[in-house]
Amino acid sequence: MLNPPVSDHGLPRELGVYVHFPWCLKKCPYCDFLSVARDRRSLPHEAYADVVIAELERRAQSLRNVRLLSVFFGGGTPSLWEPSALGRVLSRIRALFPAGSDEVEVTVECNPTSFDVERGRALQAVGVNRVSIGVQGLDQARLQFLGRLHDVDSGLAAVRDALKSGLPRVSADFIFGVSGQAADAASREARIMSELGTSHLSAYALTIEPGTQFGALARKGKLPLLDEAAVADSFLAVEATLEQAGFEHYEVSNYARNGERSRHNVGYWVGRDYLGLGCGAWGTLSQGGLRHRYRNTPSPERYLAAASSFAHANLSELGPLVASYESITGETALAERIMLGLRLAEGVDLERAAADLGTPLWTRDRARARDRLLGQGKLTLAGGVATIPKRHWLFADGIIADLM
Ligand code: SF4
Repeated sequence: MLNPPVSDHGLPRELGVYVHFPWCLKKCPYCDFLSVARDRRSLPHEAYADVVIAELERRAQSLRNVRLLSVFFGGGTPSLWEPSALGRVLSRIRALFPAGSDEVEVTVECNPTSFDVERGRALQAVGVNRVSIGVQGLDQARLQFLGRLHDVDSGLAAVRDALKSGLPRVSADFIFGVSGQAADAASREARIMSELGTSHLSAYALTIEPGTQFGALARKGKLPLLDEAAVADSFLAVEATLEQAGFEHYEVSNYARNGERSRHNVGYWVGRDYLGLGCGAWGTLSQGGLRHRYRNTPSPERYLAAASSFAHANLSELGPLVASYESITGETALAERIMLGLRLAEGVDLERAAADLGTPLWTRDRARARDRLLGQGKLTLAGGVATIPKRHWLFADGIIADLM
């Protein structure tokens, strides 16, 4: 057993921990997350927990002076993981990293095909205090188009079960901008979602990613798609409906009631360190004033075979366990802060970020892009704080790309 990391000096750095569970019952045609279809009965619940714990203990050796803020079990479908096995991983994380006075936010992404009241209670019993349910849509034909295994009723039932199970915080996700869906239909779905009683909702515009089945169909011109203007109408209709229902639109795709933002996800947008664990997980950590990013092997077989090798592996080099490892320069870190911070309603304090990272802010190209965007009303700048006006949020990626 390892001892918890000790503080070196200065204030502890805030840390989020992300644990990836790489299996789903079926691969959805639009999904570009690392997920592999696997039969429910053949899932290696305990074996996977053993390897994740081995990785955690190895990586924790080099993490000093941190304070745990959040843990997020994402996937894939981590609600397929036996709560007892997931709980073993969570207990070890809690034992290794000290927390502050605030309660650590512990979220599990859940699919309606593997969630009910009993599972909600079991997750709570092992220390989970937040779930995020992938409802994805409230129209049966649209759910089928998206390749989902659940129907409308079971999506809604999963959210109600989460609330019934007593979990303190429940979020639900849905997708809009699907072919055949007009803005009033998107708004209707948003209204139903808003009435379920959750404190958080995520509303994603369907995006077609190149490495997916939808990507391949779109390349051949065989995928029905909504045009950009219709997606923008739906985005605004969803926003109006959810704001009217008392949700704050705090990030391009995220809405919270009563300040219940996802602390873990906010960590990504403000550039917090996060330790990534599990097959295919990404992590970004600062050590000794340097920042680096890594990705674990995306092969579940290779990752599972690694239980005994983690203890001695050099995790700063590419190898069977580490698929990528890169140092992040100040300029890259600044570009990422801009890219992610501009997704938030409060934007990003560019001058402070540049000063923290010790890198110049207004390079000639960036200053030119800034002036152009200010002129077009796509960017506002107050003091050093940059924001994108909400009416341009749907096109935030293009605006951000200009500033990069
Ligand atoms: S269930 Fe979620 S993670 Fe799994 S394939 Fe579908 S969209 Fe991707």
